[in-house]
Order: sequence, then structure tokens, then C-alpha cells
Amino acid sequence: MPEDIRSKNFAELAEEIKALNFPSFRAGQIYSWIQEKCVDSFDEMTNISKDLRSKLSERYCFNNCQINTKLVSKIDGTVKYLFSLHDGEYVESVVMKYKYGYSICISTQVGCKMGCTFCASAIGGFVRNLTAGEMLAEIFTAQKDLGIKINHLVLMGTGEPLDNFDNVMRLLELITDEKGQNMSMRHISLSTCGIVPNIYELAEKKLGLTLSVSLHAPNGDIRSKSMPVNIKYDFDELLKACRYYANTTGRRISFEYAMIRGFNDSDECARELAHVLRGMLCHVNLIPVNSVRETEYKKSTLDRQKRFIDILTANSITATVRRTLGSDINASCGQLRASKRKRG
Ligand code: SAH
Repeated sequence: MPEDIRSKNFAELAEEIKALNFPSFRAGQIYSWIQEKCVDSFDEMTNISKDLRSKLSERYCFNNCQINTKLVSKIDGTVKYLFSLHDGEYVESVVMKYKYGYSICISTQVGCKMGCTFCASAIGGFVRNLTAGEMLAEIFTAQKDLGIKINHLVLMGTGEPLDNFDNVMRLLELITDEKGQNMSMRHISLSTCGIVPNIYELAEKKLGLTLSVSLHAPNGDIRSKSMPVNIKYDFDELLKACRYYANTTGRRISFEYAMIRGFNDSDECARELAHVLRGMLCHVNLIPVNSVRETEYKKSTLDRQKRFIDILTANSITATVRRTLGSDINASCGQLRASKRKRG
């Protein structure tokens, strides 16, 4: 099967153009069509000869996203897409508008292996990794459809980005390339459920992005009940890796904590969380858990949320409750794809 040309970096493309015996400046033109102007086909490259275009299309393809479903929130304008991929699989992305511009939350895999019990993306298990080109296609398709430039990226959709490490690293290289979209690494967040060895690997790259860690519990016992990954990489190992990451990169870690009624939202949990995070460069992001139909988890009450924050703050841990966007369109990733799969 031909390779997705969108996943190539400039050096690889230049090598290919050289191998095809075309002048080197053609590589710059083609790269700009793909990464800067975001075309979906070779035909759109109007300043490239038919000969070169046809040689390229023998070897490469564009694995585009088609918009299958588009939902727009009446409350805040958040847009949710269900994209179909070249092999008939589906992924979701969400575009949110903030004061500082547009942000997109993209999927990094079709399905997910991690099996978190509260998460809609775990339903149906893992199908495959997305390539860097397919992840770019999620961004480019949304940009084109909405006629906007997206300047913030969140890797928090379906999938575990650190379980698709090489493709995600390539995506980061391409989206931040000044010859392409030139997105600032400071405007990118990557969320992980805690693949410990890859947190160390990421730390060594010193990328300047924001690392979010889905913690969701103040200790290993509670965490293992909802996050099987905690059995492979235990809680203490994870926190050790997080400390290393914060120290090595000088970047604050954002800990995600989905508040589940009666499960992880007691005063004692808050105190324990404050204790284990003490002294770490970090922030806690509390998310009232989204009740996914298939699970019976309930959101913590507002009183509980407030009390939890108060305890963390009193213990010098900064914490906020995440604002919910797109609540009328089930904007949390995984839910639309899961319902599509059910209908078949
Ligand atoms: N695999 C990565 C990124 C995808 S999930 C990770 O685990 O971080 C994005 C975030 O949404 C994670 O923090 C995840 O734990 C959280 N999440 C999943 N289902 C949720 C739900 N029902 N309610 C609230 N947060 C949820």
C-alpha cells in the first residue's frame, strides 16, 4: 500500500524528489502544498508538473479524513467531528473557541488499549494507531471546514499518545515546523494515562509542551480499580517519573483528576493527593466525571468539588475545576464513535 505523504518530514521528501531526479526546489514547493496550504491531493499542486505528480502518486497517497458527522454546540460553539478514515474506521476531534483562539482536541489512535473503566474510548478496545499524517488530517480538515486557523493542540482525544510514540513525535515535528503550520510547542498539550518509560523518553526530548497526566486517584489502590495501566506501572513509579519530568523540563505537570462520586472525592482523598504531590511543579485539573452511558459513575456534587479544591489549595497545591464545553453535544471524546459502532 502506498505511504501517506503527509507523514513525511522535509528531509525525507527532499530525498525522494532527488531520487526521482527532479530539482531540489520542488521538494520545498511540495512540502508547502502539504504542510502549509494543507491540500488533500496531488492534483491541487498546480505549480508541479503532471509528470512529477503522477510519479509521486504511484508511491504515495493522502489518507484524508471525511466528515461523517458534525455537531455544533448551541451553548458555546464547540464543534465535534466524527471523521471517517480511508479504511472505514472512525475517529473524533473537537474544536473549541477560547479567548486566545481556537484549540483542537484530536484522537491519536482508533480505539484504545488502556481500558480505563470510566472512559468511552475504551469501549470496543484498540483497533490501530493513527499515522502522523492522519492526525494532521484531523486538524487540517477541521481548519478548512470552519475556515479558521487553529493555534492550540490537545492530544486528549481517543487513544493513548505515548502508546503511539513515534507517530506522535512525528506529528509534533510537523505541526511545529515553521515551513508548515508553525504551531508553538507551548500551545500543545499531551495527555497520558501513565506509560512510565515513555514519560522518561519524552522528558529527554525537552519539548516545551505541557504534559497532562491522568491521575484520577490519590493512591495505587483506588487507581488500580479504574485504570488497569496502574497495575503495569504502579502509582509510585508514575509519580517518580512525573517528578523527573518536571525537574528535567522545568515544565509544570497538569494532573487530571476526574471526580467520581463516592469513589475518589472524599476529604481524605484530597489530603492524600496533596501529600503525594507535595513539592512537585504541578497543577491539578479537576473534571467532574462525565457519565458515559455504559458506566454507572456519577459526578461529585458541587459541594464536594469545592471542598476538594479547598483542601488542595490549603495544602499549597493549585487546582481548578475544568470548564465544561460542548455539554449539549457530548463533546467528550469517544462517545460519538462508541454510539456509531453500536448502530453499526
Ligand atoms: N489516553 C490519554 C488521553 C485520552 S483521555 C490519557 O489517558 O490521558 C483524555 C482525558 O479524559 C483523560 O484525562 C481521561 O482520563 C479523561 N476521561 C476519560 N473519560 C472520562 C470521563 N468519563 N469523565 C471525565 N474524564 C474522562
